[in-house]
Amino acid sequence: MEILEKVKTRVYKFGNKTADGNSKMKNLLGGKGANLAEMSSLGIPVPPGFTITTEVCTEYNTLGKENVVELIKDELEESIANIETLMGSKFGDKTNPLLVSVRSGARVSMPGMMDTVLNLGINDEVVQGLAKKTNNEQFAWDSYRRFIQMYGGVVLGMKPASKEDIDPFEEIMEHLKHKRGIKLDTEFSVQDLKDLVYDFKEAVKKRTGHNFPTDPWDQLWGAIIAVFNSWNGDRAVYYRTMHGYPADWGTAVNVQAMVYGNMGENSGTGVCFTRDAGTGENVFNGEYLINAQGEDVVAGVRTPQQITHLGSQRWAELAKIEEEDRLKNYPSLEELMPSIFEELNTYQNVLEKHYRDMQDMEFTIQDGKLWILQTRNGKRTGAAMVKIAMDLLKEGMIDEKETLLRIEPNKLDELLHPIFDPDALKRSQVIAQGLPASPGAATGKIVFFADEAAKFKNSILVRIETSPEDLEGMNIAKGILTARGGMTSHAAVVARGMGKCCVSGAGALKINYKTRTLTVDGHEYHEGDWISLNGSTGNIFEGKVATMEPELSGEFAELMTLTDKYGQMKVRTNADTPKDAKVARNFGAQGIGLTRTEHMFFEVDRIKAMREMILADTVKGRKQALEDLLPMQRSDFEGIFEAMEGLPVTIRLLDPPLHEFVPHQLATQKELAEDMHISLQAVKNKVAELEEFNPMLGHRGCRLGNTYPEITEMQTRAIIEAALNLKARGINSKPEIMIPLVGTVKEFEAQEQIIRRTADVIFEERNDSIDYLVGTMIEVPRAALMADLIAEKADFFSFGTNDLTQMTFGYSRDDVGKFLPVYYEKGILKVDPFEVLDQEGVGQLVRLGTDRGRSSKPNLKIGICGEHGGEPSSIEFCYNLGMDYVSCSPYRVPIARLVSAQAAIKSTM
Ligand code: PEP
Ligand code: MG
Repeated sequence: MEILEKVKTRVYKFGNKTADGNSKMKNLLGGKGANLAEMSSLGIPVPPGFTITTEVCTEYNTLGKENVVELIKDELEESIANIETLMGSKFGDKTNPLLVSVRSGARVSMPGMMDTVLNLGINDEVVQGLAKKTNNEQFAWDSYRRFIQMYGGVVLGMKPASKEDIDPFEEIMEHLKHKRGIKLDTEFSVQDLKDLVYDFKEAVKKRTGHNFPTDPWDQLWGAIIAVFNSWNGDRAVYYRTMHGYPADWGTAVNVQAMVYGNMGENSGTGVCFTRDAGTGENVFNGEYLINAQGEDVVAGVRTPQQITHLGSQRWAELAKIEEEDRLKNYPSLEELMPSIFEELNTYQNVLEKHYRDMQDMEFTIQDGKLWILQTRNGKRTGAAMVKIAMDLLKEGMIDEKETLLRIEPNKLDELLHPIFDPDALKRSQVIAQGLPASPGAATGKIVFFADEAAKFKNSILVRIETSPEDLEGMNIAKGILTARGGMTSHAAVVARGMGKCCVSGAGALKINYKTRTLTVDGHEYHEGDWISLNGSTGNIFEGKVATMEPELSGEFAELMTLTDKYGQMKVRTNADTPKDAKVARNFGAQGIGLTRTEHMFFEVDRIKAMREMILADTVKGRKQALEDLLPMQRSDFEGIFEAMEGLPVTIRLLDPPLHEFVPHQLATQKELAEDMHISLQAVKNKVAELEEFNPMLGHRGCRLGNTYPEITEMQTRAIIEAALNLKARGINSKPEIMIPLVGTVKEFEAQEQIIRRTADVIFEERNDSIDYLVGTMIEVPRAALMADLIAEKADFFSFGTNDLTQMTFGYSRDDVGKFLPVYYEKGILKVDPFEVLDQEGVGQLVRLGTDRGRSSKPNLKIGICGEHGGEPSSIEFCYNLGMDYVSCSPYRVPIARLVSAQAAIKSTM
């Protein structure tokens, strides 16, 4: 056993155009490690290194540190020796030292989640060797102080003491800057850097009680273990939970030879994208800094420069920088280092073609030599996701099926969000401009701390810059605004990943955390003040700017057309008004799967008639009240049929319990008594009579229609007359009348009889007729079990998975929120079963109902109209069961159309 365990490879080497692994090994090597291996094999110049597998992380969690060190020690030493050979230097050597970087890398990219340590292997002696070797004492000592800073923060836990405090190392640096009267890190003298190293080490000792580790091997092991530990840190756990990634995935550790972007004016570092991650435009773009290390570009401390000439000009225009100033102080890499730019341009083309997707790359230029540090499929906004996929299709890089599979259904949601109303925009005042870091429109109240984002219903998180600790608050806020940082800053990258509107690097903003104020041009804004952000232009507005509905156009419309080519299952919508029906139809809905008629009764002018109906003691009285309601219902249905001309419209008969319609407060009860000329006591008695212990399981659905057939008669009349009226105007409607909460065949039959009889009477009165269907909801478990018998009578089934989930789990729809959080925490439930269909349990009833229904009526039309009809995994399940359609809220229609197509494609693969 012991020997077998040792035989397994736990460390994979790469470098010098070869590699032990490849890009298919993401689960084992993590995304970063797999790509480094792949790039090396492709001939891309990556600094040599190795990857410790994700399995070792899992082993660490079960076996502990000592055992894991024992397991990988030999392989680790051999892999370091390999780097030493390739780089011609030695780890820990005093004259010709090799320094390494240590990074985490899970199988999916988790921005900001895991930590990086650079310059590892340096100590008081090695620093001398490094200074001699590079002939640059400044650089050597700067590398040393950076190492202590990062190692201290990441491995030894030297973090700010409270949220208002700054980083303990930054504090020491600020103190020294103040003393020396300087402003920038680059202004430190060699002696300053030496002092900083000393002070940093003292601070570590004071805070941790231990000396800073000087042995390079101790440093290396410390960093590796810290990466493993960070997998179970709060931030990582939050991110994993948010995305549903299991804990046993673990993270890999990547160790690589250091290359330096801060070795002088002939060195630099940057981040680039093969296409625009915000808009999807096919332009190579990115940012870099001369004489800097990787962290400097994303940390937002210095203003990064653009890689391409075009990008630089666009940036200067936004930043209101004159061409002369731009060329002198912020030239593009293309202008400053043309041959390096050409080489980088070649690699970005090679990598995008190889991976057939937009790449997000990091690079370093060390003394005139270009190194590519990493590449990965770039995070992007929903809009960019659609444009890039459609462009790749047009460029012949991917086929139609792959194009559709590339689209993340839930990310389409971003394209369906409101945009600023152009008229309102004209009237708004721009107070400042930043970079258009992540598109969208956001309006909300200012908050300055991420952990306070939930303070207001709509908040805008305003920060000097964001950090991984802010993740949760960034997710809650409607938009993010930062004073510092470029297009690749933490805020920008994370916001794009979340699809959240973000404006970054708005340099004109002065933010004071202590006073909780934001000052622009002498004007002061406070916490709680409204501001608005346009993430597509970078504009920041004072106050609340009105928004409007988005449109389905451009590549998005093309994508939707493509979904229809592959999608077999239809997509309908749940809509109760002509307005909703129109919105859904614009999004491509192929009919209405559910019109809930109850809200029509709740409207102010109707509730009175409704109450009279309920309070009536006689059938005659009830009929009288229903007659008042009839014309209103009829015109509702006419509006909906007209909006859905030619498409099927499922109208469900009244469902909620009657007690919801009667007043429960004394004042309104008095009012009603006066209106109806009856006593207050009579009203009170009726309310008491209608009271139920468990309304959700009470007198609702077809139980109402079966106790008060007049209601069913009136609703049927309204539906049929509406359709006939439209027919007279030359408009074709296809009503499908749906009976709710059926559990027995008899319940269905009794309602069906009333419906058909009423319709016949009307046809005779009018001497005209229309086609219509009578079907049922399947939402009571018993209905699913009896589906074969019900199907003999019903024209169609529509699964009401809201009630079906409620009754199968026995969780009240209205009260589940009380214990769900505890259930998540304890791992009893992973997701809300009212949101994601429980395929294992409730799904069995859906399958059984479908199969039994079709066993007696093979062509039975079957759909779903519970909330699950708009949730991707549930839609796929419905497709696999052979449903004819799913029905969802108007804004989910495009998502459902996409998933319908994806499910059809997947089933043929
Ligand atoms: C259902 O129960 O799934 C359904 C669609 O009906 P309602 O949500 O109106 O109860
Ligand atoms: Mg229901």
